[in-house]
Amino acid sequence: MARSKMKTSSHAGTTSGSRVTLNPKVARRSFLKLSAATAALTGVAMTAKMTTKAQAADKKEPYPGSQTVRTICTYCAVGCGIEAEVHNGVWVRQEIAADHPVSYGGHCCKGAGAIDMVTSPKRLKNPMKKVNGKWTNLTWDQAINEIGDKMLAMREKDGPDSLMFLGSAKVSNEMAYQHRKFAAFWGSNNVDHQARI
Ligand code: SF4
Repeated sequence: MARSKMKTSSHAGTTSGSRVTLNPKVARRSFLKLSAATAALTGVAMTAKMTTKAQAADKKEPYPGSQTVRTICTYCAVGCGIEAEVHNGVWVRQEIAADHPVSYGGHCCKGAGAIDMVTSPKRLKNPMKKVNGKWTNLTWDQAINEIGDKMLAMREKDGPDSLMFLGSAKVSNEMAYQHRKFAAFWGSNNVDHQARI
């Protein structure tokens, strides 16, 4: 959401517009932590406290003292506009940007639900692993060590191209850039987008 802050304005208690409900030599720890850093940055915006507030934001009136931040959806290169209501530094609600010169108030389903990255009760808050058919939480150290050991074993046995790096339509442009860099440091060009499969 930080790619382009076009302008901000403070709310004074008036009713807002329509709501959208919408390289092989690299040490293991180093590049795995590089990957984890992106997820961690995302996690910063997803603390339980923030979520609680955001889920309580199902109302029409702006929060007193909140700001409307005109910004750009980061899920693809089109650059559709989003108006984000920000209260005490927390993104609590999403509005359409009806007069945006690119999107004129329109969004695809990804942009329309961009705030789900912050408010959805289904979003991942930590690494998970299926153990005996049941999803269980892992710590970041557990996940990095376990996945890293398996990845290194694969590369040692079959080479760096034995792995395929698949992105997602629900990562930001910045996360996609980091994903591509991670594959390059790993030593493979096997990078693609999940939707092409
Ligand atoms: S709303 Fe959809 S089309 Fe527009 S920038 Fe976001 S992902 Fe791209």
